[in-house]
Amino acid sequence: MQQKYISLLILIIIAFVFLDCSEGNKSEKTEDKTILTVTIDPQRYFLEQIAGDNFTINTLVPPGTSPETYEPAPSVMVDMNKSKLYFMIGDLGFEKVWSKRLAENNPNIKIIDCSRDLSLIEGVEHNHTDDHGHSHSHGGLDPHIWSSPAAVKEMTQIMLNSIIEFDPENVETYLLNYSNFIKRVDSTDSIIKELLADIPTRSFIVFHPSLGYFAQQYNLNQHSIEFEGKNPSPSQIRMLIDDAGKENIKTVFIQRGFDEKNAEVVAKEIGADIFEIDPLSYEWDTELIKIAEILARDKAKD
Ligand SMILES: [Zn+2]
Repeated sequence: MQQKYISLLILIIIAFVFLDCSEGNKSEKTEDKTILTVTIDPQRYFLEQIAGDNFTINTLVPPGTSPETYEPAPSVMVDMNKSKLYFMIGDLGFEKVWSKRLAENNPNIKIIDCSRDLSLIEGVEHNHTDDHGHSHSHGGLDPHIWSSPAAVKEMTQIMLNSIIEFDPENVETYLLNYSNFIKRVDSTDSIIKELLADIPTRSFIVFHPSLGYFAQQYNLNQHSIEFEGKNPSPSQIRMLIDDAGKENIKTVFIQRGFDEKNAEVVAKEIGADIFEIDPLSYEWDTELIKIAEILARDKAKD
């Protein structure tokens, strides 16, 4: 009887020792890796493609959150202060203030603007500026560069150069990874191009105007429900519905983390279908192809 208890006790002790060891190893490993921070998950995907698992990559804006209205929590600040590099998108709402604060707290961090080689396009809201001022949340420029494969090539070239500069020893690996990644971007681009060839209507509506560079690259016309970063007034909705009728729009995109009521009103009025998309998804290429498939869904019927 007593022996049974003793052997049970020994077993428990052994189990604890093992558990402890594996836990210890795990945390040791993550602590060993240098931390890099990105603003959104598509950037984490790009960086992981280029750098493999040499780094721990920290995403600032959690999925399903709008980067325009995002306010990082104090705990996120602590994690960010351990980062060696911070890849900002470049012109998203909170990034400017946030990166300034970060540079003060962590003078050794290198902050990289992923938009710096791109000429940013005007925000879509400026198509309807007749009776409105110009004070909107994006400062007049459209920050959503990652919706275009062509722009992604530019921004990831900057990411690659920064990684090589930071860790020149592994340059061969990063160059090889990058060329494989670019092949994937090119094939994503070809799939989208083929899907969007000869679609019946090249115009669409999206709640938050996050597809401006996608529209630019593939000769599409983006209309947004959101007006200057806010919900539209009834007269602005009327204007949008009129445009939608003229352009025979059949697609309304909504995004996680944004209001849906106005999208439902507009879609019902013009007889369009509503689709939820997630431009902040880690699955960057899958998401873009999905958007193209939605726009191309009536092609075969015509
Ligand atoms: Zn946005």
